[in-house]
Amino acid sequence: MSDNSLLTLGRHATVDLHTHTVASDGRWTPETLVARAASLGLRIMAIADHDALDSIAPARARAGARGIALVSGVEVTTRWDGRQWHLLVYGADSERGPVHDLVAESRARHIAAATEAIARLKGAGYAVPSLDAAVAGRPPLPIYVMDALIRDDLAPNMLAANRLVSEELGVPFSIDVPLEEAVAAAHAAGAVAILAHPGRDEGAGVLEPARLARLLAIAPLDGLEVHYPTHTLDQVREYADLAARHGLLRSCGSDSHGPNRPRDPLAYHSSLIAPLLTRLGFTFPPRGHERPRGEGHFISRLDPAGKTDNATPPTKEDEAR
Ligand SMILES: [Zn+2]
Ligand SMILES: [Zn+2]
Repeated sequence: MSDNSLLTLGRHATVDLHTHTVASDGRWTPETLVARAASLGLRIMAIADHDALDSIAPARARAGARGIALVSGVEVTTRWDGRQWHLLVYGADSERGPVHDLVAESRARHIAAATEAIARLKGAGYAVPSLDAAVAGRPPLPIYVMDALIRDDLAPNMLAANRLVSEELGVPFSIDVPLEEAVAAAHAAGAVAILAHPGRDEGAGVLEPARLARLLAIAPLDGLEVHYPTHTLDQVREYADLAARHGLLRSCGSDSHGPNRPRDPLAYHSSLIAPLLTRLGFTFPPRGHERPRGEGHFISRLDPAGKTDNATPPTKEDEAR
């Protein structure tokens, strides 16, 4: 982080560690995302694009100018135990080093596969009029191609679009890296590895306790994204318990991909994930140091522990954040 003053948090700082931009499949540009985060009163945010770090540098200075600490993040597409898992990596250098190199290599494979798929779609006579709008002048990615296939009614969903390209056109379209390799790269970079949305079921099931134990035996994860918009309150409690049992950190994030896509960023209370924020270099004032304040931008229903601090007025310090 370029500005060290951003590392010292007020007690009621808000945070969203999971957003996407145009560098992957999001609609936010670094500018529009930072502006929206500022309007929500976010104090800390992370951009965690799929297999891309390109928006970190352009967003960082803009965020800093608005008093928002931008945490470098990336959501790496990984594979373990016969399926894909999304791994959130926080705090890695976005321009060099082990995580940058792993992501650059993976991104090159994504672009090569998408380029090949587009050529073969043309060669096989498929009309995909939405393709140009989906790619929008960026390096092509499989996600854009699949999006266009769905928009043009060539496939009903992502799975079918993937099959069309993989099986009919012969271009492997599920590109990932071994989970343990991504965790190792994160640790080599001094970064933190968090398993994304463990309770989101996409047909392959959620992360169960026994599976987590097996996973930890092969890849020393640092934490779980316990607080996630589609997790039920029971899931939040279960994953918080599971994290505590294994000594894992908790994370939180909206997974916002654009305005209302499927939602805007969310203002989680930083106390939910204080150990993770401490690990990322943030410091909190000692308890009792600040006068209490009101709810501010904190969304209380997202806090399963009920630590809403609603009844207290704001301090000047917090208002000046
Ligand atoms: Zn994900
Ligand atoms: Zn995501």
